[in-house]
Amino acid sequence: MKKRIAILGSTGSIGVQALNVIRNHSDLFEAEVLTAHSNYELLIKQAIEFKPNTVVITNKKYYSIVEEALSAYDIKVFAGDKSMAEVMEMSTIDMVLTAVVGFAGLRPTLRAIEYGKTIALANKETMVVAGKLVTDLAREKQVPILPVDSEHSAIFQSLVGETFNPIHKLLLTASGGPFLGKTFDELKGVTVADALKHPNWVMGKKVTIDSATLMNKGLEVIEAKWLFNVNCDQIEVVVHPQSIVHSLVEFQDGSLKAQLGLPSMELPIQYAFSYPARLTSNLPKFNFANYPQLSFLQPDRETFRCLDLAYMAMEKGGNVPCIMNAANEIAVQNFIEEKIHFLDIPVLIHDIMSNGGFIENPTLDDLLETDFEARIKAQQWIDNKNKL
Ligand code: NDP
Ligand code: MG
Repeated sequence: MKKRIAILGSTGSIGVQALNVIRNHSDLFEAEVLTAHSNYELLIKQAIEFKPNTVVITNKKYYSIVEEALSAYDIKVFAGDKSMAEVMEMSTIDMVLTAVVGFAGLRPTLRAIEYGKTIALANKETMVVAGKLVTDLAREKQVPILPVDSEHSAIFQSLVGETFNPIHKLLLTASGGPFLGKTFDELKGVTVADALKHPNWVMGKKVTIDSATLMNKGLEVIEAKWLFNVNCDQIEVVVHPQSIVHSLVEFQDGSLKAQLGLPSMELPIQYAFSYPARLTSNLPKFNFANYPQLSFLQPDRETFRCLDLAYMAMEKGGNVPCIMNAANEIAVQNFIEEKIHFLDIPVLIHDIMSNGGFIENPTLDDLLETDFEARIKAQQWIDNKNKL
């Protein structure tokens, strides 16, 4: 029987690549649910090709267009955030790929775990905001969370066969993004277009900007803490501009295990879908002749302050990572809209993190409220700055 997969965010960069994997292995996988936010045209196209049981368009404005376009097909159409969470209860879903961007992924992910669905996790913000809630619930419901983020997939692959060997350290590799090597002064003039030019990966805008600030690596450090159950001081970041070594695990004896390959998200998506099996792939294969040198260096934490902000949030714990994430989402959105400068991003996040009320063991409601308040404060910070 085919694995029936729900893709949350099928119109995004990860979603589209996940559908490529399903297309290439249509004997093994099928798309059971597709969700999109506003790209209704692509959602309709995908639905007609993949014939899912259900589609959800979370932006209600587009419901009637999608409903009308799919009326000749046997496909259920729903709209709104609530529906995206509710469809996670469907008994015909075997696995959920969480590929929406940002905090919006939290509720449907929790609902999917509640209903026993295996999670293929791309939406790292969910782990950052609610790592404890998510991992506690997954443990209680015995639901596997399979990483899709390339670094975490590399660690996961390196841990196969090491069940009884404790992790000494995790080394997360970072490409360094488009501004690798730039000084603080050089960053003063950078534009949105500069920040969106990632050297190795083609991704959604939010994660691309996060890569340029190094917040992406910060979010991934927190994601790793929860996925692999390690302490904050067991996670290190190393810059590796070629993005060939996707991350490493150091064991007690000093051995390092890593997973390598050309940068493509289809591979970690496919591995999460097929785990523990490996399937064939028509992706280009690595050739040493094209990479005579692989290099590794320390991140510049003074210029790219977001990495340390994430470590700080992780060490404080409670609702602080949620505050940081909300401030970052607002900062990135406003940077893309050219309302703040690139170098404002860490200043804004730091200020909002320093002014939030601390909750040590937040419930889901606490996190929803924390996120809401932090977004308002971040937007006020920007409005006040622009008034000056
Ligand atoms: P994209 O921006 O390309 O896609 C985001 C998807 O989420 C789209 O389908 C979009 O719908 C949908 N979406 C956006 N906002 C909302 C919302 N408020 N409610 C519901 N759905 C929404 O992002 P990526 O695919 O790049 O990233 C997705 C996640 O995966 C992120 O958390 C990212 O950090 C993570 N990730 C991405 C990698 C990559 O290579 N892209 C690598 C590793 C992790 P629509 O387009 O219809 O508006
Ligand atoms: Mg990554």
